[in-house]
Amino acid sequence: MKDSKENITFSAGWKFDNSYTQLPSAFFTKQKPTPVSAPSMVIFNHALATSLGLNVEALFADSENVVFAGNQDLSGTEVFSGNQLPEGAEPLAQAYAGHQFGHFNMLGDGRAILLGEHITPSGVRFDIQLKGAGETAYSRRGDGRAALGAMLREYIISEAMHALGVPTTRSLAVVATGEPVYRTSVLQGAVLTRVAASHIRVGTFQFAASIDDDSAALIALADYTLNRHFSKLASGKPFDQTYANNKYLALLEAVIDRQAELIARWMQIGFIHGVMNTDNMSICGETIDYGPCAFMDSYDPATVFSSIDQQGRYAFGNQAPIAEWNLVRFAETLLPLLHPEQTSAITIAQTALQTFSVKFRQYWLKGMRAKLGLYTEEANDALLIDGLLNCMEKHDLDYTNTFRALSTEANIKIPMLDFPDFIVWHSLWRKRLLIQDQNLATSVNLMLFTNPAIIARNHLVESALSAAEAGDFSVLEKLLEALSKPFNDNPKYADYLLPAPLSNTPYKTYCGT
Ligand code: AMP
Ligand code: MG
Repeated sequence: MKDSKENITFSAGWKFDNSYTQLPSAFFTKQKPTPVSAPSMVIFNHALATSLGLNVEALFADSENVVFAGNQDLSGTEVFSGNQLPEGAEPLAQAYAGHQFGHFNMLGDGRAILLGEHITPSGVRFDIQLKGAGETAYSRRGDGRAALGAMLREYIISEAMHALGVPTTRSLAVVATGEPVYRTSVLQGAVLTRVAASHIRVGTFQFAASIDDDSAALIALADYTLNRHFSKLASGKPFDQTYANNKYLALLEAVIDRQAELIARWMQIGFIHGVMNTDNMSICGETIDYGPCAFMDSYDPATVFSSIDQQGRYAFGNQAPIAEWNLVRFAETLLPLLHPEQTSAITIAQTALQTFSVKFRQYWLKGMRAKLGLYTEEANDALLIDGLLNCMEKHDLDYTNTFRALSTEANIKIPMLDFPDFIVWHSLWRKRLLIQDQNLATSVNLMLFTNPAIIARNHLVESALSAAEAGDFSVLEKLLEALSKPFNDNPKYADYLLPAPLSNTPYKTYCGT
């Protein structure tokens, strides 16, 4: 290691092993990021970098604190802008297809470039992807770029989801490019560094199925996915005599299970993805592609925030049925691998798909019981949960704050106790709590770690983004700090607990692509 800045020879800690490049060449196009003129670091995720085994000091050699520091000349800024490739990277854009609002299209990374797969010191493999890194073979009419506000939005919400314990891709850095992007108005360009268990989507399988005559590409992708995400299942045989040990059926079942669990988690925290197109559904069960997503304020299953979702296809209450619809598309791609005869393959797939709604219901009930401090299972629990949700819908009660108020009930007066139907519900709930062995304090403890106090409320996100776009990152910094400990009651963050001020115009989010 030398001390002069120009000759940094100590390692940033990258350890790339790019297994995706071993797939058939149709699955990707090699593509380097397009350099940008004036990169400056807007935000850098120290904790994530450290957990990946990266050396923050090496990435930002002469800075003690690089968050919002605007370092122009450090290797981290150069790497996360796409101007310099880290050692071992083999950049590429991935090919995929997808049903967008129900319509099938050939897609692919139009503005994202996978630098490669980084292996952490403990041997875990993560995709390192630059989003907004320039045009690729799949850009179609797009410019390959992303806007600062949209990338910071993904950073905020993905990190908030991580802190809430929901499987998600994560955000390592946002670098402003110093170049404009032209949308409905002129915006500042930015590149987000996204960290994911992988970027294999339902749409990647749709792509494989659509290019294949003999299932070779599909088998390559399915085997790759099994090895990468479901290695315990990878040893099954494709066409077992009983079809019971078929590893591709096991893959379908595992993906169904992970999606059922993921969507149940979204429903429990009031998260609306907003664009559950099949290309935005990750095979490994992480939340991915944060576009017009948001957290629900007052409880209403019909809530839609996305400006482009005029039919409510991706409304809050529709997320489980849509996940199932997407899984049917996934199962369709696997048919040739489930059985040599199509009718039998369809029967096998249908049997597997039928488990989705059952599994989703089980995961949902489990999580909702925890939200109400219930450790045991009683036949009427679903009715009890529905009773509360109905009451919240009827009285426009804030989803997050209602559950949090119930969790801290020992200390504060519940504001909605004045509603007669709520009073009835409340006494039923208290009776239900008494028929389990755990005492009230134990229940409250469970609830305090299940029901967040702080979520990424739309108005908070918007004010952090407007300040950041104007060059003031302090609002964003404070919000991120609060969101990193969502289950803490910190008086410092009292402002974050309030629902949005009443407005005549419903909140809308835009893709901001
Ligand atoms: P999304 O709505 O972000 O999931 O993107 C859908 C498709 O459009 C993906 O194939 C993206 O890569 C592509 N896309 C979105 N924005 C751009 C852009 N600015 N330039 C090129 N492709 C884009
Ligand atoms: Mg997408």
